Amino acid sequence: MFPLKNQTQAFLPRIEISLFQIQENARRLTKLYGQNGIALMGVTKAVLGEPDIARAMIKGGARFIADSRIENIQRMKKAEVSTRFVLLRTPPSQAEVIVKNADISLNTELETLKKLSFYARKHNKNHQVIIMVELGDLREGVLPCSLSQFIRETLPLANIEIIGIGCNLACHGGIKPNNKKMTELSELTAILEREFELKLEIISGGNSANYDWYKSSKNIGRINNLRLGESILLGLETANRSKISGLHTGAFKLIAEVIESKKKPSLPYGETCQDAFGNTPGFLDRGMRERGIISLGRQDVQVSGIFPEKQLAILGASSDHIIFDNGNHEFNTGDEVRFDLDYSGLLAAMTSPFIHKKIIDPCNNYERHQTSGN
Ligand SMILES: *Cc1c(COP(=O)(O)O)cnc(C)c1O
Repeated sequence: MFPLKNQTQAFLPRIEISLFQIQENARRLTKLYGQNGIALMGVTKAVLGEPDIARAMIKGGARFIADSRIENIQRMKKAEVSTRFVLLRTPPSQAEVIVKNADISLNTELETLKKLSFYARKHNKNHQVIIMVELGDLREGVLPCSLSQFIRETLPLANIEIIGIGCNLACHGGIKPNNKKMTELSELTAILEREFELKLEIISGGNSANYDWYKSSKNIGRINNLRLGESILLGLETANRSKISGLHTGAFKLIAEVIESKKKPSLPYGETCQDAFGNTPGFLDRGMRERGIISLGRQDVQVSGIFPEKQLAILGASSDHIIFDNGNHEFNTGDEVRFDLDYSGLLAAMTSPFIHKKIIDPCNNYERHQTSGN
């Protein structure tokens, strides 16, 4: 809807994106995980497959680009992003468009694999799959006790090639990827390879929550792949949401505009009723306060996922307004307010068609600056 190119106008609200920081994060993570032979998939779903961001991840060393939506992969392909594309979840109704656009997909259902096989044959393509194994987080995955049978039934499917297995933790059940879980995945790999006399190319151990496991484990077993979104984009590991040392955490800033700034009572007055979302709010009387409104609301962001750079207190939010107490800061109508974002804030803000996306710096050109080291 809105172009994502370098805009000179001050479009508001907007997200400012530092490709340099994203590329640097990818580069440092590639180096860290690469020391023990782990290759990275850069995950672009939180940024709707923004092609420039995918390219920054690739320049930083990501060997694959993974996304949960085939539409985002189509967008990147159209923009001529060149990589191996991985689809993170596989709706059967999209089987045809998936085999046409994704090189690899993650799978857990035989019926879906049969559909992929049918369309892969129709389009004379070879479609590669990674079978996801359930290790306790209880989102997607084939149960380990059914895995052999599952592989046995998948192997004969025409034009489908099993290239690996993987698991996903810390998403639904809050189960930590630790040594025990990763060892289990390695052991399952060995069992399958022995039983079916095959070689699995990709053992994908997880996501941005795997950082602690990697840093603390002396033996990473057969794990040779991770799928990273939040670590690359926001510089965080996600088991405890702590900052990964040496990474940039401010690649994205949300900027909104003050549309009202006035001194008002802090206590609403009149007969009370429900607010815009069916709640009956309570307020503390703090006397007359300087308050502001910005033109951004629940339709654009998850308000709990945005953090003002200056110390402002967000008092509430409706569909299109966020109301804040100015604290000790002075604001005038038209002033810009800047916010940091967590993953939920980033996800929603990147998805809002009302928020402009502005790239503020280019990728680094390592062809020319190859010698600069770390
Ligand atoms: C979203 C997703 C990821 C990336 O997760 P991050 O926490 O952003 O690194 C990895 N794998 C799967 C299957 C996903 O859906």
